[in-house]
Amino acid sequence: MRRITTVVIGAGHAGLAMSRCLTERGIDHVVLERGEVANAWRTERWDSLRLLTPNWQRRLPGLGYDGDDPDGFSTMPEVVALIEGYAQAIAAPVLTDTRVTSVRRTDMGYLVATERGDWHSRTVVIATGACSIPCVPKLAEAVPPAISTLTPTRYRNPDQLGDGGVLVVGASATGIQLADEIHRSGRPVTLAVGEHIRAPRTYRGRDIQWWMDAAGVLDQRYDQVDDIARARQVPSLQLVGTPERVMLDLNALRAIGVQLAGRVVGIADGRLQLSGSLANQCALSDLKMGRLLDGIDRWAAANSLDDAIDPPHRFPPTETGKPPLSLDLRGGAIGTIIWATGFRPDFSWLEVPVLDRKGRIQHDGGVVASPGLYLMGMPFLRRRKSALIDGAADDARELCGHLASYLDGRIATVTQRLQPRAA
Ligand SMILES: Cc1cc2nc3c(=O)[nH]c(=O)nc-3n(C[C@H](O)[C@H](O)[C@H](O)COP(=O)(O)OP(=O)(O)OC[C@H]3O[C@@H](n4cnc5c(N)ncnc54)[C@H](O)[C@@H]3O)c2cc1C
Repeated sequence: MRRITTVVIGAGHAGLAMSRCLTERGIDHVVLERGEVANAWRTERWDSLRLLTPNWQRRLPGLGYDGDDPDGFSTMPEVVALIEGYAQAIAAPVLTDTRVTSVRRTDMGYLVATERGDWHSRTVVIATGACSIPCVPKLAEAVPPAISTLTPTRYRNPDQLGDGGVLVVGASATGIQLADEIHRSGRPVTLAVGEHIRAPRTYRGRDIQWWMDAAGVLDQRYDQVDDIARARQVPSLQLVGTPERVMLDLNALRAIGVQLAGRVVGIADGRLQLSGSLANQCALSDLKMGRLLDGIDRWAAANSLDDAIDPPHRFPPTETGKPPLSLDLRGGAIGTIIWATGFRPDFSWLEVPVLDRKGRIQHDGGVVASPGLYLMGMPFLRRRKSALIDGAADDARELCGHLASYLDGRIATVTQRLQPRAA
């Protein structure tokens, strides 16, 4: 049994950002990683994926972007190189190929069991990722066996798909990107669309991420929103990072021939039933995009940018055509279904009673409801940007500060709320 002050679980960017902050404070720690550094980016992403956040937004604690393409979008090998290089630069004490199999509370802190021996630590930081398990709805069990089903973590490229059309379920960033790529490979694609957030790649000559960063949208704090539980469930923006900076929305997909359909609501007698609410979903999404752009325009005017940039404008509304209300799954027209219906974290190894009945970890901005236990990298953990690479730095600094105070005995209760970092 080895003893250490802090165990960080997971060597993605979030765990490494925390490692860097712990090192700065002189807190001895180890980062336990089941695979290699940046494992998720190496093993769970499709071949053509690029970040949808621009390169300047790859900031990590102590590391800004110093390349010659700040507005470009990194490929997966580039993201792996970034995170691997960061681990080396900060000399992170990572043990690879070390899967954590359980974490239990003890009188002294936590017992962290791994496939390569146990650790006893006073504090634990969980940085195992928000997207470990693809969410697949229960109704998927009724898909006829002749149809292949896939999730985005197993999809690599269109060549792995069999003959026939492809149904992509879900129209957030993942679903629209896969629908576009697969349709361009020559297969007919139907895209089943539920709740989604439409966003332009560029607006008034600037990238949408630039606007959201500059206007403070991404810095919005978890304790400043009315309904944080809802904010944490909001789907990813419909965005793609391409050298051409294209806007990939439902209109763009329809223009290349993708068939749009409503949300999948059931499967009965070999037929897929689709909601008739597609037009309403799209109208709502258009409305929300309009609100985002209104806010950006107000911010630009208040910051005297109006004369320096392109004038405000609006995008054409989403056209849905005549969406089908059902699809035959037995006739051979659909050969593959891809469930791009979101992701969830995997806490199956966590034996500390901090999960609610839906399996969600109970925490206040990453301070978990068990003394000395912390969480990183979840959607809207402390800020709207928390699950982005760019969100890890602020969260890690603040949570590391809390952890240090806890070790010093300066924090008596786990519910003591962290204050924002002074500017
Ligand atoms: C398809 C997709 C596209 C995305 N695009 C962007 C983007 O453009 N820009 C952006 O900023 N963000 C993007 N994200 C979001 C985010 O950056 C990623 O989810 C990121 O991988 C999260 O980083 P992380 O360090 O929290 O978790 P991960 O990168 O998932 O790292 C967690 C690590 O924990 C390890 N681990 C898990 N369980 C255990 C265990 N039991 N024991 C030991 N180790 C364990 C894993 O192997 C992994 O290495 C994207 C996410 C997805 C899924």
